[in-house]
Amino acid sequence: GATIGIIGGGQLGRMSAMAAARLGFRTHILSDTPQAPAAQTANELTVGAYDDPTVLEEFARTCDVITFEFENISLQGLKQLEAFCPVRPSRHILETSQDRVTEKTRLGKLGFPVAPWRSVPDRATLASLVEFSFPLILKTTRFGYDGKGQFRVNATEELAALENTDLPYPLVAEKKIDFARELSVMVARNEKGEMRSFTPTENHHRDGILRVCLAPAPISPQLARKAQEMAEKLARDLGLIGLLGVEMFEDARGNLLINEIAPRPHNSGHWTMDGCPVDQFEMHIRAVAGLPLPETRRHSDVFMHNLIGPEGMACVPELLEENAACVHLYGKQEARPGRKMGHVNRLYPFGALPGPLTLSSLSPLEAEPIQN
Ligand code: ATP
Ligand code: MG
Ligand code: MG
Repeated sequence: GATIGIIGGGQLGRMSAMAAARLGFRTHILSDTPQAPAAQTANELTVGAYDDPTVLEEFARTCDVITFEFENISLQGLKQLEAFCPVRPSRHILETSQDRVTEKTRLGKLGFPVAPWRSVPDRATLASLVEFSFPLILKTTRFGYDGKGQFRVNATEELAALENTDLPYPLVAEKKIDFARELSVMVARNEKGEMRSFTPTENHHRDGILRVCLAPAPISPQLARKAQEMAEKLARDLGLIGLLGVEMFEDARGNLLINEIAPRPHNSGHWTMDGCPVDQFEMHIRAVAGLPLPETRRHSDVFMHNLIGPEGMACVPELLEENAACVHLYGKQEARPGRKMGHVNRLYPFGALPGPLTLSSLSPLEAEPIQN
């Protein structure tokens, strides 16, 4: 059968490889470490640097199509891979999502609403932010994930203090949005232009890390449709072939802003593994392999909890006893604090998701109330 190459050996690669195997494909993972969650589920593993031309060539020669679960691959490397087989999603989409300035600029040009922002290339520009807006969030333009590389600035004095700090420039400054909710939509599109999006989820973070998702988000059908239409228009405008996660804020007036995009499976789409006949990983594989994309029908409502660090793993024995709790573990050896070790999808009948999030609705997985 055909071989799908996946760059990146994390849990997203692991679950993509499992979906590919189900459809009869072979998978070849490229990872920079042999201790990769995806190593256990792929047919073949190449361990090497993502920017080493020899490694990339060895990898690409075995693949019929290449995709990625990891976004920090060099564009030069992708160009090299394109000489051997199609890379999906395209280098141009990855280029957009790799850098927050490029991403916001492109989204703005395409007419999508984003939070007001300023580029902060160096220390000299930092001072000019007094005329921007407080509170604001400074983010590294590249390589940030799980809220790493972010600095919250509430007032002028805090900004002044940062001027004497070594910050990882270049940065981008964003107005801190007083959002009513965080939502996200996963959208898949194949080369024929067939497109499917999943129902929006409501996402809750703590310490910058996604903790729980509610699927469906408890929003009006109108807003849900608006969010899906926005994600689908973006997928079309970008010429997506593959899967795209679109993170959004719903502001106090019910307007949607795009926070960031990720051209790959996304943590907020993990609920689909147990809530839909065809999940985000299979949709990803189908889209890059040129297979049809079926409707994203939901057969259950889902409360997805991430299992993070040692506390998350401590919940596993209890979860394994629970009915309608679908446990997914990533096979990571070391449960370091803040590390995503797995997730659990708790299934509910339609309309029966636990109401507004409270301390008790999250017990025993969450020891503290959820704050944004
Ligand atoms: P990810 O793991 O999703 O890739 P990341 O490190 O790229 O995370 P963001 O998604 O930009 O970071 O931000 C992480 C979280 O911080 C957001 O989900 C949101 O809760 C909060 N946040 C980010 N930007 C803003 C903003 N402009 N206003 C309010 N909250 C924000
Ligand atoms: Mg991000
Ligand atoms: Mg994010």
